[in-house]
Formats: sequence, structure tokens, C-alpha cells
Amino acid sequence: MSQLWQIEDKTSGATRQTDVRREEILANPGFGKFFTDSMVTADWDAENGWHDAQLLPYGPLVLDPATNFMHYGQAIFEGLKAYLHENGTIKTFRPFENARRFERSARRLAMAEVPEELFVASIEKLVERDQYWVPSGRERSLYLRPFLISTEIGLGVRPANAYKYILIASPAGAYFSGGVNPVSVWISDDYVRAAPGGTGEAKCAGNYAASLLAQAEATAHGCDQVVWLDAVDRQRIEEMGGMNLYFVYGAGDSARIMTPRLSGSLLPGITRDSLLTVAADLGIGVTEGEITVDELKSGCESGEISEVFACGTAAVITPVGTVKSRLAGSFEVSGGKTGSVTLALRDALLDIQSGSVPDRHNWMHALVG
Ligand SMILES: *Cc1c(COP(=O)(O)O)cnc(C)c1O
Repeated sequence: MSQLWQIEDKTSGATRQTDVRREEILANPGFGKFFTDSMVTADWDAENGWHDAQLLPYGPLVLDPATNFMHYGQAIFEGLKAYLHENGTIKTFRPFENARRFERSARRLAMAEVPEELFVASIEKLVERDQYWVPSGRERSLYLRPFLISTEIGLGVRPANAYKYILIASPAGAYFSGGVNPVSVWISDDYVRAAPGGTGEAKCAGNYAASLLAQAEATAHGCDQVVWLDAVDRQRIEEMGGMNLYFVYGAGDSARIMTPRLSGSLLPGITRDSLLTVAADLGIGVTEGEITVDELKSGCESGEISEVFACGTAAVITPVGTVKSRLAGSFEVSGGKTGSVTLALRDALLDIQSGSVPDRHNWMHALVG
């Protein structure tokens, strides 16, 4: 446990959700709809650095209307999960990776960086207090949402001189309610998510705001998700919505997987990174490379590309079954079905996260028990 940061517990006497209501919520939590009893906050200013780290009852913030982030968008976030293992311990997956990415995102948006130890200590504190909110079951977890906003009051445009770090938590069932069914994707050629030199590598709120219209366009074309192309040539496939992509070449013993190389405009997913290792463990060859829309289409048609899947913390691994685009038309992947390599990788990752196999890579970090 991190000793460096004392997080003061200010929840004594606060009311908690009743056991009955909590069990009701945990029976069908959905995603991001319900929140636990508590939250952690900490403040930064130039004079005091990080201070006032505290555990508080979950509740509204009171903010001045001239609070800087509401106007100029200095806002970043992270997403990770806590899992209840069969022996009663609660663990999280590679939290220091999230902490380091959070620091890099802060740097890119000229914000104060939250120290790794404070980030992890806040998770330990909140999950210990709200441990009864971690649902049991392999596909279920407590989703943790750390975020950072600028809190300087005023409309001057410059890096703010004050920031607030907040951690909230939300019980999560399976992300896609229909189970592991392939999604259909729309390749966006008119909107881009991120350009070289932009903020694509940072997990910032603005990237999501900028993606919503393209996602709406995907929906209008009857697709579940949007796929992004590189901003320069609009040829190379980068990501799907808020998830990274993998392409499976060949099948059976000779199957290998490829994921787009981190180009500066892709978000470096921790699930993406973990799968490079998990695939190698399973004897599946892995490479980082590039693929254009035309190569995807001809690969799917010739059978060279046997499966495509997306990966990220929230939805773990999601197969792609149908691709639609303006220029290359519509085509199927894997005959629109979930492929065996996709399922094997999904199972292998869930086995580690749910504690049903030994944690060979030391990825799990104990929070409670
Ligand atoms: C968060 C995110 C991912 C996935 O990252 P994980 O660390 O695997 O959850 C991928 N793409 C985008 C755009 C994201 O915001």
C-alpha cells in the first residue's frame, strides 16, 4: 500500500446506500449509471502543490461559472477496473500504467501532474471504503474513473494555476449488453479523431467531444461504432471509437495478430499493450504495423485476414463483424461471426483479471483483502 499520501477520511457519519438498494443496483448495474457512496478529491495550486487529499461522500461539486476547464477544456481522465476474486480479495489491473498515462496526458494539456503514488493511493482508499460495491462475476467489475480538471477562476487563456483531481467509481456489468456479439463499424472519412502533433495520445475530454458527431454518423449508417483513419492520407486505420484495433492474419496454429503502431495520434491502450504479451503467451505471433482500408477489404475478401477485434478496459475485447465505408463499400469479417483467436485472447485476459489463473506478469495490484 502507498504510504506517501495520507488521504483524510471525511465520510464518518455520512449516509450510505442501503444494502437492499445496493444489491438491486449490483444485480443489473449497466455501465456508468450508478455511483458508489464515496469519492476522493485532491487539489493543486502553484503555492501548495498537491494538498487536501480527502475521501468524501459522493456528491455534487460547487463551481464558479468562470471555472477555467468549462471554457477551455483542460480536462483529462482515466479508466480502470477493480475485480472481486473468488477468494474475496479485490484487485485492480496495472494501475501504475494508468497513473503514468495520466501524467503524460496532464503534460500534453499543460496541467499539473498527479503523482503516481497519489493516483494509486486514491484508488486503494476509495475501493477499501466502497468494497461492497464491487460486483462478483467474471464479466463484472467496479469501474474506476479518475479525472483532472483545471479550477482557476477566470477567462484568461493560459495553463491554469489550480487543478482538482477526483476519483469516482461505478459498478459495471458487461459493457455491451448483448454479450460477445460482433459489432458493425463505419469508417469515417470526413471526420478525424486526431492529427500528428494533436492530442490523440492524451486521454482528454476534448477528444471525445470531437468524436461524437462521427459516432452519430456511424449510427445513421446503421453501424455500432466509428473507425478512425489517419488524418493525413485518410487511408491507414487507427482506432475504433474509444478502443484500439487488432487484425488477425491466418488461422489455427499459424494465426498471428497485428495492431496499428503507436503513431502519435493513437491512444496507447493498456489493453492493447497487455494483449501483445498475452498473445505471445498463447503462442500467437504479434506485430505492430499499419493497414489501409483497401488492404483490410482485400484481406477480408481473400480470407488472409480472418478476424478483427477492438480492445479497451471498458469492453475488454469486442469482435468486428461488418465494415461499412463510403469509398470501399460494405464487407464482412469472419462471416460476421466471432472468431476463435478473438475468443481465446478475450478468455486469456479475463482469466488474469478475474484471478482464475496465476498472475505470471505481476499485473494485478491488491486493493482489499
Ligand atoms: C481509453 C482509450 C482506449 C483504450 O485504452 P485502455 O487503456 O485499453 O482502456 C483506446 N482508445 C481511446 C481513444 C481511448 O480513449
